[in-house]
Amino acid sequence: MAGEFEIISRYFTRAPTRTDIILGVGDDAALLRCLAGHELVVTTDTSIAGRHFPYEMPAVDVGWRALAVNLSDLAAMGATPAWFTLALTLPEADNTWLEAFSRGLFECALEYDIELVGGDTTRGELTITIQAMGHVPSGQGVRRDGARPGDVVCVTGTLGDAALGLELLQGGHKPDSADAAWLLRRLYRPQPRVAAGVVLRGSAHACIDISDGLSADLGHILQASGVGAVVETAKLPTSKAFKRLAGENASTLQSSGDDYELCVCLSQPDYESIRAQRVSDLTAVGRITAEPGLHWLGADGRETSLTPGYDHFYG
Ligand code: ADP
Ligand code: MG
Repeated sequence: MAGEFEIISRYFTRAPTRTDIILGVGDDAALLRCLAGHELVVTTDTSIAGRHFPYEMPAVDVGWRALAVNLSDLAAMGATPAWFTLALTLPEADNTWLEAFSRGLFECALEYDIELVGGDTTRGELTITIQAMGHVPSGQGVRRDGARPGDVVCVTGTLGDAALGLELLQGGHKPDSADAAWLLRRLYRPQPRVAAGVVLRGSAHACIDISDGLSADLGHILQASGVGAVVETAKLPTSKAFKRLAGENASTLQSSGDDYELCVCLSQPDYESIRAQRVSDLTAVGRITAEPGLHWLGADGRETSLTPGYDHFYG
């Protein structure tokens, strides 16, 4: 069984490739060069086995996902990723698990040009805490509190895929069809919308990543901005795989989490130009209203009731 320092040197020490890392893993703390004229964007997210991901999830995907969910928070701020730290708590030093976990983690890091600069390694129930850092040009961070009446409410990509993947998994289905395998990949390998966030940061009035379901996450924007919204359920974008396999599950789309897409509020002209030129999978689903409250309209134009999103303490 490997010791703490062996784990760090074998699995988590790599030669830095970014030129803004003066000192990375190995000293008491990292030394990082910040970009002039920019603000540092910092976020952290913890993933606990059995709580945030199923015990049977492959270690390579656990590694990818733990970083991806943090990148999604950076994306929602419009930030460009730069560095991250990893606090890893392990029940035992299992080399097979660590090899796969670190492989998935670094695959994601490479894809999004973010680098591991430090961390902590301890023993206990499997828990992964990552702190991700990035930057935005000063004043351009996209907050939750800027939505304005008349804004278009839009979402990137498709909704409901990861939740349906989880349901198939929990129902004991083997991902034996291409559709089921694709949905499961949406759950295990979220692709944070970093490039879209960077495009949107000049124009978006408000943005949030959809981790707990559109109704809960849009609800945070509405509350922070002191506005309301009307959203049309028929406009919620779904994937081909979702359409083929969802059946009755389509009714829970508003509360489906884990897709890590973005919900963005934009002026109508900005929505049109960004969709036409730079983020082609942006879909308008509703409007911001001056009156507070979130209203859902069904395909018949009548108001429908909503299912609440996931909450760790009430969910
Ligand atoms: P300290 O005693 O100063 O807290 P540690 O012994 O915890 O230092 O860590 C030694 C070095 O290894 C530090 O540079 C720390 O950032 C790094 N480190 C520890 N665990 C990890 C990890 N899981 N991933 C990356 N770096 C790590
Ligand atoms: Mg330490």
